[in-house]
Amino acid sequence: MSIVTRPTASPASDKPTQHPRHGTPHAHPSPSPTGVSQERQLRESGGVHWPTTLWLLLLHVGALAAPFFFSWSGLILTLVLHWVAGGIGVCLGYHRLLTHDSFRTYRPIKLFIAWVGGFAGEGTAIDWVANHRKHHAFSDKEGDPHSPHDGGFWSHAGWLAYSIHGKEGQEHAQHWAPDLANDRGLRMIGYLFLPTQFLVGAVLLAAGYSFGGWYLGLSWLAWGLFLRLTFVLHSTWFVNSASHMWGYRNYETTDDSRNNWWVALLTYGEGWHNNHHAYPRMAKHGHRWWELDVTFLTIHLMQRLGLAWDVVDYKNQREKRKND
Ligand SMILES: [Zn+2]
Ligand SMILES: [Zn+2]
Repeated sequence: MSIVTRPTASPASDKPTQHPRHGTPHAHPSPSPTGVSQERQLRESGGVHWPTTLWLLLLHVGALAAPFFFSWSGLILTLVLHWVAGGIGVCLGYHRLLTHDSFRTYRPIKLFIAWVGGFAGEGTAIDWVANHRKHHAFSDKEGDPHSPHDGGFWSHAGWLAYSIHGKEGQEHAQHWAPDLANDRGLRMIGYLFLPTQFLVGAVLLAAGYSFGGWYLGLSWLAWGLFLRLTFVLHSTWFVNSASHMWGYRNYETTDDSRNNWWVALLTYGEGWHNNHHAYPRMAKHGHRWWELDVTFLTIHLMQRLGLAWDVVDYKNQREKRKND
């Protein structure tokens, strides 16, 4: 295929704003005495967001229990739910459908997938999309919420300890994802985020107990919930860290995005991140024949079944018209 050179483009508003945490008026990195961006300094000055931090720590501690409660069915559950939460919920739902509008589907399906996205433990669709659109608008520049320029660990997980919530979080969502923040259905699903984790945990514990007693119940809980959530979180986080540091580039984008095969395997195609930054709205992230993109295959299957349409494809010039 031909290698095209083009700058990155945001699918949503990328106009800088005067609000320092919603978008900075500076287009280029501003070196500071500490060597980190103003974005990181501003987030850190807001203080650690303890509910998010403790939530993430709790999941990791819970995952440590998994080896003590091993079962083959627990392992299979982990892999299946990793695909459901990470592949369908986050990659196909939060990312390609809700952030980039890469395809359309029926509203009940859209809302259902947004709910399934909550299974990944990465927050509500509205907050997730707002952060990701801001990442596209300022990729590896001043204003990027999670650039490796601020440190590998910061881009992987550290930035989440300083995530924005409350009134400021609502303003952030209104600025970056007004289409979702003003959607009553999606707001209602956002309220289900935390209860859903308890529901999934209770169902796993009860189902395991009914099939094989307490050991299997605790096995399904430890593997199907805690270890699986931790696995999904790190899989997604590798897109923000590894795919901006290690791998090859098909396109000369203005950021440091890379195509990383092992991240693509962990994230059902999202690791072809340089391709994605070059063509953010394109539904297909694997652009070379061997760049396996399970999420796009799923979208293609939905299209064949009549469940997806208006699939954005560079070949049909949609992406080009949108960005040129
Ligand atoms: Zn990126
Ligand atoms: Zn994206």
